[in-house]
Amino acid sequence: MEIYDVHTHKIYSEDNDDPYHSCIFDVYSLEFEVAKELHQRHSFSCGIHPWYSDDSDTQMAYLTEITSNPRIVAIGETGLDKLKGPSFEVQTPVFKKHIEISEKLGKPVIIHCVKAWEELLKIKQDTVPSQPWIIHGYRGKPDLTKRLIDFGFYFSVGENINVESMQLIPLDRMFCETDEGDMSIHEVYLQASKSLNMSILEFADAISTNVHKIFPTIQAPKPYYTEFEKEED
Ligand SMILES: [Zn+2]
Repeated sequence: MEIYDVHTHKIYSEDNDDPYHSCIFDVYSLEFEVAKELHQRHSFSCGIHPWYSDDSDTQMAYLTEITSNPRIVAIGETGLDKLKGPSFEVQTPVFKKHIEISEKLGKPVIIHCVKAWEELLKIKQDTVPSQPWIIHGYRGKPDLTKRLIDFGFYFSVGENINVESMQLIPLDRMFCETDEGDMSIHEVYLQASKSLNMSILEFADAISTNVHKIFPTIQAPKPYYTEFEKEED
């Protein structure tokens, strides 16, 4: 099976050097130049986190310049956070600028959203984007999940999941991630597949299909064989 981690900040983790999974590293614009040399095989997402969206003009100018680089496969993480960071008056225009870049370049958006779901839905309704919007670290409750599904969102799930919601998310709209958590991507896959009563192989196959479709330029990792596969033989 092929393993993909679509959102991780751990560029300096040795685990991410193993050839058996491919990552999308989330980096700041200024980090990208160094990061892309450090990791020849992996891909990147680049954006301004809502927490740090204050006085972001310089960052934004640089972001606009580098995001056409083919190794940047997604825009973000970006979004809205009601609990941390500057006011929505500051966060919203910065988020919207990311959406513009995403639409212009045809690259999906990776979204960080904390307690701002109504605002997020409103912006999606108003912009009618053509690119996929992937909510990262998703663990929302079933009611919210249903609404987000209806609005066409994609979901990236990691260490903390809501099992009931997992069973609602269409499998062709799901990705996996480690973000900044302690779980390895293999553990994330295992936990997610268990929550869906699927074999990890079947689950990984579905996620690979999604990755190939939404991020066609990501380099495939070496196939990973687990003890689970042996069990299932
Ligand atoms: Zn993150």
